[in-house]
Amino acid sequence: MLKIHPFVCNMIQENCYVVSDETREAVIIDCGAFYESEKKAIQEYIEQNELRPVHLLATHGHIDHNFGNKFVHDTWGLKVEVHASDEKLMNSLPMQAKAICGIEMQPSDFSPVGKYLCEEDVVKFGNHQFTLLETPGHSPGSVFFYCKEENVAFSGDTLFRNSIGRTDLPGGSMFLIIQSLRMVSQLPDNTKLYPGHGEPTTIGNEVANNPYIDR
Ligand SMILES: [Zn+2]
Ligand SMILES: [Zn+2]
Repeated sequence: MLKIHPFVCNMIQENCYVVSDETREAVIIDCGAFYESEKKAIQEYIEQNELRPVHLLATHGHIDHNFGNKFVHDTWGLKVEVHASDEKLMNSLPMQAKAICGIEMQPSDFSPVGKYLCEEDVVKFGNHQFTLLETPGHSPGSVFFYCKEENVAFSGDTLFRNSIGRTDLPGGSMFLIIQSLRMVSQLPDNTKLYPGHGEPTTIGNEVANNPYIDR
């Protein structure tokens, strides 16, 4: 059984998720923690529940999902894993901080990427695993992290409750995101989705209500 705890982070209200199971191994997804209070909340949750983080994942290479990478590296020794097609974005995090949030940051404010992932990769923790569903469109390397046995997916900024992510940022493509959404709409209706911003939803709800999804 997966335990999923969201932490709303930074000036863009991004969702960081700590996902753990009965073994107490945990995965941190999209650590956007920017303010000290956000880092403290995540650290306290992990310590109080005696969790052992074994992966730091990013659904894509945007700054609001990667602010806290250095904090996670300094605290638990984990480097972020992200799809290889977002390498360019991962190399431009300080530039994104300036352009999107108006903040001066240096390359040294971020830890290096630990691993560039591809669709064949499987992320294992405890008794569970995530596979990658490639969902380009919001960014070239946007992915879903999908746990088939628990019917759960982390959708990043590709799919929000009744909406989708923007496609006007560098590397974005409306054509590709529509194709990606058609692909993920084939997942079972009861698949629970945890997006990068806003409330959780399900595939069934999105197929019924999301104007961008045409199954
Ligand atoms: Zn994004
Ligand atoms: Zn975002």
